[in-house]
Amino acid sequence: MNISPQEETIAAISTPPGAGGIGIIRISGSRALSLLKSIFQPKDPSCAFVSHKLYYGHILQPDQGKILDEVLAVYMAAPHTYTREDVVEVHCHGSYLVLQNVLELILASGATLAAPGEFTKRAFLNGRIDLTQAEAVIDILSAKTRKGVDLAQEQLAGALYKKIEPIRQSLMQMRAVIEVAIDFPDEDVEIIDHSGLIVQLEQEVAAPLEKLLHSADRGKLYREGISLVIAGLPNVGKSSLLNAILQEERALVTAIPGTTRDSIEEIVDIKGMPVRIVDTAGIREDADEVEQLGIQRARDLINRADLILFLLDGSREISEGDYRLYDQVRHKPLLPVINKIDLCDSMVPTLQRGNHRGTLQRGEEKGLPQHGNKEDLSLRGNNGVITDLSSFPDIGDCLKISAKEQTGIEQLKQAIFAAVTSEGDQWEEEGCAPNMRHKQALLAAVEACGRVMDSLQAGLTNDLIAVDLQGCLDYLAAIVGETTTEDILDLIFQQFCLGK
Ligand code: GDP
Repeated sequence: MNISPQEETIAAISTPPGAGGIGIIRISGSRALSLLKSIFQPKDPSCAFVSHKLYYGHILQPDQGKILDEVLAVYMAAPHTYTREDVVEVHCHGSYLVLQNVLELILASGATLAAPGEFTKRAFLNGRIDLTQAEAVIDILSAKTRKGVDLAQEQLAGALYKKIEPIRQSLMQMRAVIEVAIDFPDEDVEIIDHSGLIVQLEQEVAAPLEKLLHSADRGKLYREGISLVIAGLPNVGKSSLLNAILQEERALVTAIPGTTRDSIEEIVDIKGMPVRIVDTAGIREDADEVEQLGIQRARDLINRADLILFLLDGSREISEGDYRLYDQVRHKPLLPVINKIDLCDSMVPTLQRGNHRGTLQRGEEKGLPQHGNKEDLSLRGNNGVITDLSSFPDIGDCLKISAKEQTGIEQLKQAIFAAVTSEGDQWEEEGCAPNMRHKQALLAAVEACGRVMDSLQAGLTNDLIAVDLQGCLDYLAAIVGETTTEDILDLIFQQFCLGK
């Protein structure tokens, strides 16, 4: 007899590989309880396997009576389970070998190894969660910041579904009106108030969809984060700054240029956004870092970065190397930062212009300063330190920090956040973060909505209007998984780990 995939009883190890206090094997499907009974010997022989109750006992190899592990087992009767099917969990000792032995026994007893995400897919197919909630489970598992977890939890609680549903209700009501008009073409009464429908579409469909699209852009930031490269000459304080941001000694800090031998990457949580910070110190292989920055690896890092933190040493004069490095990074979104301000207490912000010491000379042709005379390139206050970055073309405002004394680090984090969100403060959108798949469907729905409005305005036939209204509804239905194709479902659930 052929059994459909959903009738199969599936099993998988649900805890991550490696040693741990406990490891859990999950079984889901109609045979879950009988499977458990065939391999589990409860301590209490009168054990009745009451639903949602943990029992102590042993997993035994049935033919040999050999104990595979001492466990706690629980049977959970459908439908009050993760998958809405009968579910069993066996809590073993957290050794991968033990778990593997028990899983092999369960598979030999008739279960099928679950595909990645299959438990969650069953929860979706059995109607316990919609597709946005299934995707929220992936987001919870892969979230890199607390904010990311919070957003995913809110989506799991139905935040996106609750936003989409009223829009769909409005569209369905409008479609009903149009269908009445199609069914009664000869009615004298004007069934459709075209201008009223346009206003309704604008207010109840287009505007909320636009708002959701805006949330999608923010959702991407919180879900995927950004990559930030710290670029600066040797000894300007790149590693120290990375440490200051991390608030731990992750990178090797040294007074000798070139000691950091490999580029260092860390993910930090900046206002809820995961920021992958790359300290390019490791790019250099000998003294001339600027030359080394020309190598492909550095270019790749810089080109892939969403933001470059261009770091200068405020305790020394701007050098030709600084200008050359700036030339290599200025095509990217840039945050200029002057470090070591603790050494610049007597910094005087006034600049002298003219053909004497301290003069700034601007390059006319390339928009860059002429680098012929290093002395003259320096822009300095009375004590020879950097006070102003106006000699760098188009560089914008700069921040002044001390990585060593941890001053200005909070402002820097704020500036990083503002640079990628174009807003100064934490995003407080109501717990909704559509992903790329949702965004594509939302864009298509906005377009379909626009076509409906155009058709209404142009007085086109109701049949045509109905087609676009239905199109808009279909795109929204795909978001929650009502009309999602098998291919898309497979793509979504493949992103899960085994056992989820
Ligand atoms: P990198 O080569 O750019 O990664 O620079 P490092 O982070 O290794 O720092 C080079 C030297 O500058 C070390 O001796 C640091 O202690 C020192 N340094 C870094 N930041 C500051 C700062 O804000 N103030 C002072 N006074 N020294 C700093």
